[in-house]
Amino acid sequence: MKRTLTVCPYCGTGCMFYLVSDGGKLVGVEPSVTHPVSRGGLCVKGWNAFAFVHHPERLTTPLVRRDGVLQPASWDEALDLVVTGLQAVQEKHGSDAVMFASSAKATNEENYLLMKLARAVFGTNNIDHCARLCHSSTVTGLAETFGSGAMTNSISCIDETDVILVIGSNTTEQHPLIGSRILNAVQNGTGLIVADNRRIRLARHAALHLRHKNGSDVALLNGIMHVIIAEGLVDEEFVATRTENYAAQAAAVAEWTPEKAAAATGLEAGEIVAAARLFAGAKRAMILYSMGITQHSHGVDNVRCVAALAMLTGNVGRPGTGVNPLRGQNNVQGGCDMGALPDLYSGYQKVADPLVRDRFARAWGVPSLPAAPGLPLTRAMNAASEGRLQALFVMGENPMLSDPDQGHARKVLEGLELLVVQDIFLTETAALADIVLPAACYAEKEGTFTNTERRVQRARKAVESPGTARADWEIICDIALRAGYRGMCYHDPREVMDEIASLTPLYGGIAYDRLDPHGLQWPCPDRNHPGTPLLHLEHFTRGLGHFSPARYRLPAELPDDRYPFVLTTGRTYFHWHTGSMTRRSHLLDREEPRSFIEIHPDDAARLGVRDHDRLQVASRRGEVQTEARVTTMVVPGVLFMPFHFAEGAANALTNNALDPESSIPEFKVCAVRVERVP
Ligand code: SF4
Repeated sequence: MKRTLTVCPYCGTGCMFYLVSDGGKLVGVEPSVTHPVSRGGLCVKGWNAFAFVHHPERLTTPLVRRDGVLQPASWDEALDLVVTGLQAVQEKHGSDAVMFASSAKATNEENYLLMKLARAVFGTNNIDHCARLCHSSTVTGLAETFGSGAMTNSISCIDETDVILVIGSNTTEQHPLIGSRILNAVQNGTGLIVADNRRIRLARHAALHLRHKNGSDVALLNGIMHVIIAEGLVDEEFVATRTENYAAQAAAVAEWTPEKAAAATGLEAGEIVAAARLFAGAKRAMILYSMGITQHSHGVDNVRCVAALAMLTGNVGRPGTGVNPLRGQNNVQGGCDMGALPDLYSGYQKVADPLVRDRFARAWGVPSLPAAPGLPLTRAMNAASEGRLQALFVMGENPMLSDPDQGHARKVLEGLELLVVQDIFLTETAALADIVLPAACYAEKEGTFTNTERRVQRARKAVESPGTARADWEIICDIALRAGYRGMCYHDPREVMDEIASLTPLYGGIAYDRLDPHGLQWPCPDRNHPGTPLLHLEHFTRGLGHFSPARYRLPAELPDDRYPFVLTTGRTYFHWHTGSMTRRSHLLDREEPRSFIEIHPDDAARLGVRDHDRLQVASRRGEVQTEARVTTMVVPGVLFMPFHFAEGAANALTNNALDPESSIPEFKVCAVRVERVP
């Protein structure tokens, strides 16, 4: 038996465990008892993280579409077709007719390399990844208010706080080890406020459960801030010495009396007052949030409000406080850090800054780099349907299931001149591709992942990849070489990290020999720096914290006579994202094998629906069939559906209305109708 210490491939909590292998095959998982996050525990997904690795459906050879059918091909043939195809599209339509979609499941090194390939080799800033779908509003909102779009504190701060506000995060299901840490803290006397209109597990342990209307977070948070100011609960010293623009914030929330906030949110005024007193009355209070507030057409405004609430009460820059976005996939933080974003290089250095461009161009040995920011992923589909985008290279993502308005996504992907997908399984997106490149999974390669608390950790190779599948970083470098660029020849990912460190001040001190046993938290500017568990200690990254008042706006689509229900979407405990790995893990799929929709008993009774009935759900964009789950988890008038399932895909229904600043789609609110299938 061999034990290999590595990082869980699922959520951003970033637990580390040992992959146990025997004769070159994975046979199990053992948690790391010394790891500061997992501390000897794992959730059910972590325990089963070996199960999909040797699945018979793993891709083992490149595939090329001939006569309309994907057929096996050699690496030489497939990679030459990728390069000539991308170059042909660029010659015909210009550099920006090509886009690269990077992956929050790939390593930091691979995200950096795909970003470099797009910019240095193909001359386009059209590079983005699925953070666009989950936390781009965090990056925009926290960069504006604090100067850094990452979790301000560490997961261990949950043990040191007096009150936790969890808003828009089903933590026990999506980040289970963080969820159980919250439950432990509550058992030890920490006050818990849960703002979420689903009766999630955390809500059953909360001092206050605020079941506000979907999309009314700005009204709720403005109402809470109104009470804090009106009752003299502001941390005046913090506001005076550490922040700016307070007067504008106070003016903006002045009208949000508890009564007005109650009318907008559907809560009682007393609940809003109680939440304000509990949060502001604590010596140390921390905010944890996730996609329940980011995936809205006003996602950036929601983030501005949580930042303002923390600053108003002096809850930044100390242990047990902070604004803490819980990142979804295991390396979505790293994907952002590595500049797999259309307007930023690694370390959030701006593409628009000529000095930054010049530094990267010199280091990469190219005469110049493109100056105009590229396309966000969520605008790529429209660009393609308008003919501005003709080729898409997708590494380890599955937009056919993860993008909103699936019908539109399919039409656009099918209409591209060239679609290349690099993945471990033939996903729904790969099935539409012209060329499919088989990739190694997390257990078959070296690299680093960065978890939600900015902890950069080593992932290690435990077993060989199947057939001729290759690590993403090797494939990217081979493409660069075939395109005539000689600046991407590395022996191993360690050399890539050295290059990242040399060009990225936040990662300046990150090196493989410093990452054992449990990584380093950025910022880590030089080799002697111990890493940074807490951000914004003496001052904010941008200097003073900036209050950015938010105006309350309704969701883009509201229920009406034709579509009388609000649909909201999310994940379940047993599955991950589009299910490409968890649905191929026998025990996980056995626990949650089918698509379902939660409906309140009152609504079910009115429609004559019983538990497990087949339901037809329709929105303005599409319709799906799924199974009824009659439950008080949801409030009357609201339905909840997970988005993991290709059959009964929630994203056939969702709305592609985008936040104007971050381009995040409004996954959390759309209008639907539902009826029982006879
Ligand atoms: Fe993996 Fe997240 Fe579960 Fe930890 S909590 S084992 S990182 S899925």
